[in-house]
Amino acid sequence: MNEKLLEVRDLKTHFFTPDGVVKAVDGVSFILNKKEVLGIVGETGSGKSVTALSILNLIPQPFGRIVGGRIMFDGVDIAGLGQKQIQKYRGNRISMVFQDPAASLNPVYTVGNQIMESIMIHQKIDKRSARKKAMRLLDMVGIPEPQRRLNSYPHQFSGGMRQRVMIAMALANSPSILIADEPTTALDVTIQAQILELMVDVMNKTGSSIILITHDLGVVAKYADKVMVMYGGKPVEFSDIDKIFYEPLHPYTNGLMGSIARLDSKKKDRLTTIDGSPPSLIDLPPGCIFYPRCKYRMEGCARSYPRFKEVKPGHHVACHRHAEFLKEEADG
Ligand code: SF4
Repeated sequence: MNEKLLEVRDLKTHFFTPDGVVKAVDGVSFILNKKEVLGIVGETGSGKSVTALSILNLIPQPFGRIVGGRIMFDGVDIAGLGQKQIQKYRGNRISMVFQDPAASLNPVYTVGNQIMESIMIHQKIDKRSARKKAMRLLDMVGIPEPQRRLNSYPHQFSGGMRQRVMIAMALANSPSILIADEPTTALDVTIQAQILELMVDVMNKTGSSIILITHDLGVVAKYADKVMVMYGGKPVEFSDIDKIFYEPLHPYTNGLMGSIARLDSKKKDRLTTIDGSPPSLIDLPPGCIFYPRCKYRMEGCARSYPRFKEVKPGHHVACHRHAEFLKEEADG
């Protein structure tokens, strides 16, 4: 049976800019179970990274803040915690791997010192034990000669090796959840698969769960158990991986599926694009925000935003088409 680890309910994170309120995340809900990989996909600006940053209260200040919703972890609503209280969770119970390892590591400290610092902040152990643990972590993520490499600086590693160091650092305190925000985007294609395999392998060994944020549907198809598709700061579809890939319900998800090459598609199938561009998140209209790009739009879609609801067991979608479908089914 699935054991719930994290529950995000109606999360809203807005940015108060001189040009208006940017509703970067507006009503996101999902559940992450133990030992599960949840993929969050969507175009740039869909709110996937801000969702991740909100979980750890890392929203850029002073403009951004969580204005609504709950993030339940271990019986505590961590959305309501201040910077001091969230430290107990950040880098400890929940940790994060960012897109660019070069920007995340401090160039003036050795990688050993940086991993040890993360260990000593959260665990009451001396420097010698922390060093031993750091060495074991480097070994676990596949860094050769870990004892020697502890004394190296980030610039002495390749991009792929730096990302391995970031993963070692993220795992230093045996987190229950690892959030990986586009962890392979800055890496060479040949290294990407190695890093993703490593993360999943480590997850299997440690029993942690992963939230994998990406715009790459191929990555999601290979590694995720469940997927949440986001558009314009809102979730538009959520389900397990097979349903999303073989029975997508939302027109946006359909469009995404049409834009990737698949081994199971027929030769004559051409890749398609989604016309138009994502909406500005300031002053959104009241109706469905996918309306201007949707080839299935109906009367009424522009008037009210469709509720995000479960239309089949475990399959949630926000689209009036499926509300109609349900109504027809109920009417017989
Ligand atoms: Fe398209 Fe209407 Fe569904 Fe929006 S609600 S995705 S416009 S059919």
